[in-house]
Amino acid sequence: MLKVAKFGGSSVAGAEQFRKVREIVESDESRRIIVISAAGKRSSDDHKLTDLLYLIHAHLSYGVPCEDILNTVETRLLGICDELGIPMDLKPELERFRRGLSKDSSVDEIVSRGEYFTSKLMAAWLGYAFVDAADCVFFGLDGTLDRETTYAAIREALDQKGRIVIPGFYGQLPTGRLRVMSRGGSDITGAIAAAAVDADIYENWTDVSGILMADPRIVPNPSPIEKITFAELRELAYMGASVLHEESVQPVKEKGIPLNIRNTNRPQDPGTMIVESVDENEMSERFITGIAGRRNFSIITVYKQGMKLSHSLRQALEIFDRYQTPVEHITLGLDSFALVSPTANLGDAVYDVIAEIKKSCRPDEVELRENIAMVSAVGRKMSSQPGVSGRLFQALGAQGINIRTIAQGADELAITVGVENEQYENAIRVMYESFAG
Ligand code: ASP
Repeated sequence: MLKVAKFGGSSVAGAEQFRKVREIVESDESRRIIVISAAGKRSSDDHKLTDLLYLIHAHLSYGVPCEDILNTVETRLLGICDELGIPMDLKPELERFRRGLSKDSSVDEIVSRGEYFTSKLMAAWLGYAFVDAADCVFFGLDGTLDRETTYAAIREALDQKGRIVIPGFYGQLPTGRLRVMSRGGSDITGAIAAAAVDADIYENWTDVSGILMADPRIVPNPSPIEKITFAELRELAYMGASVLHEESVQPVKEKGIPLNIRNTNRPQDPGTMIVESVDENEMSERFITGIAGRRNFSIITVYKQGMKLSHSLRQALEIFDRYQTPVEHITLGLDSFALVSPTANLGDAVYDVIAEIKKSCRPDEVELRENIAMVSAVGRKMSSQPGVSGRLFQALGAQGINIRTIAQGADELAITVGVENEQYENAIRVMYESFAG
């Protein structure tokens, strides 16, 4: 058994968190590759190392002194080292980093040091070998991952060293320069490492006990999701849930490696397991996996008696395409169709779009409705359950929530309803209570 465990910024924010990480790692000897983020916030008024490093770069590029911020970064790292009595002297390297900084230092070189130094400390604390991401994560000149070289390098490092810590978030370009990934990129490094060694599982340790069925700011104490498929996760993320980014799960998804989201502060919780598919017999009673949504959509509805639907729809879609406006949902009627787009994407072009639709489709009427929230109930089990939509509409209706539009994907993985913006939270609560509560 081989596990790759990635610990996020809040899991390595200070000495106390480092202790929890060691306990977790030592409790299972198959956790042999550890991927580490830069130390994050210890409390809500604290700062992430990565943010401080971005700030240092901004100061340097404008020629503004930033000694204080550099001191804060150093104090954070040395504080962890001292408090835990880690047998390593980080000072000379921190000093070299400071001396090497100039107006021309690249942002990637600077911000990657958060992961680099935090991982060096963690490797020494765990007694694992430190393997720099510059030596095992490689990008091509176009900035995309060079999979073959990367996977081979990670495999070789594991073979040679047995137990390794790799800093997340960055790698090396063919020019020898460092490149950082998008924010939160350590998730991607973890998935890459898991795919490289064909891990049995990729654990992503964070500060929540998995993905919740609904936004806890809207639904009090929503249940965590035990098991979810990658397809459902994609659907929830698309509808606005703040869950793992798709790019970050791609390497493990491709290899069919399950991803387990765990809580460093509550290691006894099983967290959420993200898998390729779920055995029918294993399915829990719940047929909704999660609920997510977003506000501020516009619906453009086109009416025309006896219209040739395919023709008019194609013309309308071409117009949206020309204005580079994404269409997120389409609903069809006998003599009408409606296109749903984020209002911000339509922007002021909305009037031009409508004018062009009038010109090319020659409709009887075009209607624009704004301030719409789209809310989805996502669940792989819905397709096998008759009457789900009926139950949903009834529940919303009973609470006086007017449904402006309804969309169901062809794969029946989600049912989406459009409601007024001000009914957004209410709709999520009603859906949660009627299906999950
Ligand atoms: N430290 C980086 C960030 O704050 C990457 C990560 O934590 O995954 O975005």
